[in-house]
Amino acid sequence: MNLDSILKDVKSVGISGHVRPDGDCVGSTLGLYNYICKYYPGIDCKLYLERIPDCFYFLNRAKEIIHVPEDKVYDVYFALDCGDLGRLGAFADIFTKARHKVCIDHHKSNSGFADEGLIVPGKSSTSELIFELLPKDRIDRDIAEALYTGIVHDTGVFQYSCTTAATMSAAGFLMERGIDYSAIVDHTYYEKTIEQNKVLAYAINKAELVLDGAVIKSVITKDDMTRFGVTPLELDGIINQLRITKGVEVAIFLYESGDNEYKVSLRSKRKVDLSEIALKFGGGGHERAAGATMRGTPDEIFEKLEEEIRHRL
Ligand code: 5GP
Ligand code: MN
Repeated sequence: MNLDSILKDVKSVGISGHVRPDGDCVGSTLGLYNYICKYYPGIDCKLYLERIPDCFYFLNRAKEIIHVPEDKVYDVYFALDCGDLGRLGAFADIFTKARHKVCIDHHKSNSGFADEGLIVPGKSSTSELIFELLPKDRIDRDIAEALYTGIVHDTGVFQYSCTTAATMSAAGFLMERGIDYSAIVDHTYYEKTIEQNKVLAYAINKAELVLDGAVIKSVITKDDMTRFGVTPLELDGIINQLRITKGVEVAIFLYESGDNEYKVSLRSKRKVDLSEIALKFGGGGHERAAGATMRGTPDEIFEKLEEEIRHRL
């Protein structure tokens, strides 16, 4: 894929990432958005995302993100970090209407829904893919901050098995662009509000081990969120803490997202391919990190997931 040929003679560009934007979604879209705004000032470029977590607002141009779809036909539209059209949420229509649709993504479950795609499941993050696409002499501090943030989040601070030597050299290059890499990790990845820490402690406290300790599971209801004063955006770190429990292969975390409906997060350590399981329930993701939205009570959902996990252990 050649970005500069995609952008040649183009007048308008739209960019979106997935619903419930995470660090890689925000980092990759803002990286590309900053690049186009700076080096293609003649292009009318807009970035559309759902509300993003507060910790990402320090990134350049984050305040320009538009949160509601518009009735517009773009020459080119980029869907980043999205494995299927549904992941664009309210922005699926504006993407579909665009004259040329481009997808840049690293999900194993990617359904190939654009006119042109750069889909590399082995990559740590969409931010690393954007890094590879951009001319290196044009990666300034603002772009570097966004892409570094994205890589940090999808690798769990360079911890997960998706981290490669290429990821580390991309991160090294970005560090040399004058970014405050230590503050980015601290401020966007580790820092929690007291409310987040308390709801994390509560979720860990009520977690249960099943399948001889190979699976850990926990759930947060809407009532819990009200009681702790948090929104779904602030439940991000819980699945990671569950995952690192000694002896565990798979962690399952649910939060109530609607009537009789739960958002499911799955993480595995070495064996279980979660993208397969998530796909079975209408979701998707990677081998080691996947998700879906499922209907039923928490017990019913846990039972379905455990059934799928049991024969893969
Ligand atoms: P998380 O558990 O952090 O929400 O998501 C883990 C991974 O699975 C992410 O890469 C995310 O994009 C993917 N994922 C989570 N939920 C869904 C979903 O409902 N559908 C699809 N296609 N992917 C999901
Ligand atoms: Mn990603």
